[in-house]
Amino acid sequence: MLILISDSFDPSLPGRLEPFGEVTHDKNRVGEATVVLIRSKTKCDRAYLDAAPNLKLIIRGGVGLDNVDLEYAKARGVTVTNTPQASSVAVAELAMALMLAACSHVVEGHNGLKRGEWLKKQLKRTELFQKTLGLVGAGRIATEVGRRAAAFGMTVIAYDPYVSSSDVATMTSLDDLLARSDYLSLHTPLTDETRGMVNQEFLAKTKSGVIIVNTGRGKCVDENAMASALENGHVACYATDVYTSDPPPDDSPLLTAPRVIMTPHIGASSKENLLRIGDIVVEKIRAFIEA
Ligand code: NAD
Repeated sequence: MLILISDSFDPSLPGRLEPFGEVTHDKNRVGEATVVLIRSKTKCDRAYLDAAPNLKLIIRGGVGLDNVDLEYAKARGVTVTNTPQASSVAVAELAMALMLAACSHVVEGHNGLKRGEWLKKQLKRTELFQKTLGLVGAGRIATEVGRRAAAFGMTVIAYDPYVSSSDVATMTSLDDLLARSDYLSLHTPLTDETRGMVNQEFLAKTKSGVIIVNTGRGKCVDENAMASALENGHVACYATDVYTSDPPPDDSPLLTAPRVIMTPHIGASSKENLLRIGDIVVEKIRAFIEA
């Protein structure tokens, strides 16, 4: 059995998988692979699946499965599975880091010093304490963010049409959430319903001066509408880990809009999370072989 490791995993994983079969990183051998391990980079579309006649199992280390053609995989008899429980803490900590970086002007202060500018008077910080955080989506990651935000003294509210109660947030309607939130943190999967959800109409309902953090999916945001709202000052900061494509194209409006903080899709990339993902991958391959 050939196991193809197509994206980045913990360096210990190949050694741990050797008892199960041959392990390769050579993407040209996809045609021989029985198991393919991916994260968000590899796109398992129809052409990819057609090039992999021996494929039986795709394991996506991480949460979203929007980079796999699930319907075609099913039709081809390929099992697709992921490790959704592993990444919540890692992504939630990045969402908190982005929120704190936004209200404390960490990036502007740092860049100023690098340019030889002492921006002490210009950079007026604000606190998370006693502010309202609106979670869009109330799933695993949002719950971890809500828990941490509560420890900072924030009031946490959430909108999720598929969740009626939350341990960490008061559920409310989308309009109420947008009207009340000083911070919005986006945690929805990419679906037909959420694609472009954060558009001009959505942004118009938010508070002036809102800080928006996105560790969900880039395509849930209309980046042109976001850039306009940053340029006209309505949105105080857009802090994002995710883009319409990885990396964002050279003409992405986010690269030139003011007060954007960007990280290169590293929400799930903590060392600890990669180890957790590795543990789950090993167990899933063991179960696949024993089935
Ligand atoms: P989850 O399934 O536990 O939570 C997602 C929540 O979104 C669910 O409760 C669902 O009901 C809700 N939802 C669906 N449609 C909605 C809508 N239209 N409006 C509001 N809520 C809606 O998933 P999770 O583990 O919390 O992950 C959330 C997302 O985070 C993933 O789908 C993925 O896109 C993203 N993610 C990003 C990174 C990163 O590296 N930045 C890493 C992992 C996951």
